[in-house]
Amino acid sequence: MKIVRFEAAGKTRYGVLDGTHILEYSGTPYGTFRKARKRYQATQAVLLAPVVPSKIVAVGLNYRDHAEEMSLPAPDEPVIILKPLSALCGPDDPIIYPPQSNHVDYEGELAIVIRKRCRHVPPERARDYVLGYTCLNDVTARDIQRRDGQPTRAKAFDTFCPVGPCIATDIDPNAAEVETWVNGERRQAGSAKGFIFPVEDVIARVSAVMTLLPGDVIATGTPAGVGPLEPGDRVEVRIDGIGTLKNPVIKL
Ligand code: MG
Repeated sequence: MKIVRFEAAGKTRYGVLDGTHILEYSGTPYGTFRKARKRYQATQAVLLAPVVPSKIVAVGLNYRDHAEEMSLPAPDEPVIILKPLSALCGPDDPIIYPPQSNHVDYEGELAIVIRKRCRHVPPERARDYVLGYTCLNDVTARDIQRRDGQPTRAKAFDTFCPVGPCIATDIDPNAAEVETWVNGERRQAGSAKGFIFPVEDVIARVSAVMTLLPGDVIATGTPAGVGPLEPGDRVEVRIDGIGTLKNPVIKL
């Protein structure tokens, strides 16, 4: 199932992708979720970020090849950071290049969407708490990250967290192929098979720190090939079985 949030005829709804159509669903995917009567042409709907999280957690280094390109040792424990909800945006929303930075990077990532409240989840039960997986771009002002010596400000700008286009419930997250394309050119390609911490381990370790709530998002880290974006670029994060998250980059 590919779950979407969308706006059509002036209302925000949940639905499920069905080829070129969206089937409207009532309720939410975190509780009662039932097929309603309406069906929309995908072209008549505006896709929104498919999640309404209470928090966005991002794992730092989680691919061996990315740790190598950053000249950093593979960590014994995942580094976790938080991105503010105000950074969240959806498919086709512009990423706004901030005037404080001269070096904004894309980071294409597989993101976990939590289905039900949990705390202290052992890895072997972690998948019970997952609704599905989506694409996320952990946009980062790299010059600010270097200057600050920590990532909060660099990863917190409004629009620095595009998510979507859907939540895919039936993929194998630890075999996902994550790609980032800029202006039609492939810049990143990594397999979740290269994860230092597989999805189950990430959930266990994050939930050992904080209660996870329905809709919470955990970005699982980015593969090698991180690089800069410029105003005017079109950036895409593609994951097989989920789809393509496309966003233009603009400067105001
Ligand atoms: Mg990241």
